Amino acid sequence: MKLLYTNENRYLVHNIQNIIENAGIDIMLKNEFAAGAAGDLVPHETWLELWVVNDADYDQAINIMESSFSDANDPQWICTHCNEKNDASFDFCWKCFNSCPNSF
Ligand SMILES: [Zn+2]
Repeated sequence: MKLLYTNENRYLVHNIQNIIENAGIDIMLKNEFAAGAAGDLVPHETWLELWVVNDADYDQAINIMESSFSDANDPQWICTHCNEKNDASFDFCWKCFNSCPNSF
């Protein structure tokens, strides 16, 4: 069994869990009920952990997880005024200063 993913944000871990399970890979959660004990434990030890049950599935699980990250974090937006590509951190088009349609 291998640790696939852990994060302070349990929502993100459950999100990855759903994606991996939909691909038919057996996974297991650890620390699902540990948050209540945070006072007694080192905080990061209470993070929800996602484990791949079969080591043979690990590489596939990593690939699925990484492609889901790149889908979710599209780094660019297209300017509606000049069709220029802009980084997601820009609120305005670097070329024509049109405002980002996603920033409202
Ligand atoms: Zn523009």
